Amino acid sequence: LIRFDKVTKRFGDNTVLDDLCFSVKPGKHVTLIGPSGSGKTTILRLLMTLMKPEEGTIHVNGQQLFPSRGEKQLREVRKNIGMVFQQFNLFPNMTVLRNITEAPVRVLGLSRDEADERARELLDMVGLGERADAKPTQLSGGQQQRVAIARALAMRPQVLLLDEVTSALDPELVAGVLDVLRDIARTTDITMLCVTHEMNFARDISDDVLMFDAGRVIESGPPEKIFGDPEHERTREFLGAVL
Ligand code: ATP
Repeated sequence: LIRFDKVTKRFGDNTVLDDLCFSVKPGKHVTLIGPSGSGKTTILRLLMTLMKPEEGTIHVNGQQLFPSRGEKQLREVRKNIGMVFQQFNLFPNMTVLRNITEAPVRVLGLSRDEADERARELLDMVGLGERADAKPTQLSGGQQQRVAIARALAMRPQVLLLDEVTSALDPELVAGVLDVLRDIARTTDITMLCVTHEMNFARDISDDVLMFDAGRVIESGPPEKIFGDPEHERTREFLGAVL
C-alpha cells in the first residue's frame, strides 16, 4: 500500500533520508523508531505531500505520489490518508462534533445528518460520546487528541499516520489515547504508520518495527525480534537508552 523506493530528501547539505526503501502492506501496523533527527517525521510529511523528495519514488495504494503526476492525483492520494499530529490542531471555535463533521461534509459531500451520525459513532469509539457539544478548550489534552483521532477517521482513510501523538500530553493522559489507538488497530483494517517514543505501545500494536538511523532503515522486523533480540549495535544502544 505504501512504498518508498530509493527516496532521498535533503535540506541544504543535510541529507535527511538517504536512498530509503521500505514498504507497508495493506492493513499492517508499522512503527518507526530511532533517534531524534533520524528522519521519521519527514517520512510522514512526504506522505502528506507537505514536502517533496529530491530523488526516488513514493507510491500509495498503487498510485504514484512522487515524482508528482499533478495536483489532481496528489489530492486523490491524499484523500486516502489521515494524519494525527503531536499538536491536536482542533478548530477552537467549533464544537467537538463540528470539528469531526466539517471535512466529511465539505470534502466528501456527506449530508450533515450522515456526517453527524458517523461522528457520534466515532466519538463513542474514542470514549467521548457525551462530549459532542463541548468546545475543544473544555477538554483535557488527552480528550482533544482523541477528538483529533476521530476527526482523522471520519474521512474513512485507508492509511492513518500518527506522529508522536502522545508527546504533548501530561503523562497521566497518555494511556487513554494509546488505548484508543490499540482498539482501532485491533478492530479496523486501517493501515497504520506510527512514529512513537512509546516503546510498549510500539511493541503492542506493531506488525513490524523499522529502526531508523541517519535516514536509513538499519533494521526491521516483528516487535519480538527488534525489542527482544536486536541484531544491530545501534538498535541495542538506542533501546538501551529509551527503555
Ligand atoms: P524527532 O524524533 O526529533 O521528531 P525525526 O526522526 O522525526 O526526529 P525529522 O523531524 O524527520 O526527524 O528531521 C530530520 C532532520 O531534518 C533534522 O535534522 C531536522 O533538523 C531536519 N529538518 C526537518 N524539517 C526541516 C525543514 N523544514 N527545513 C530544514 N531542516 C529540516
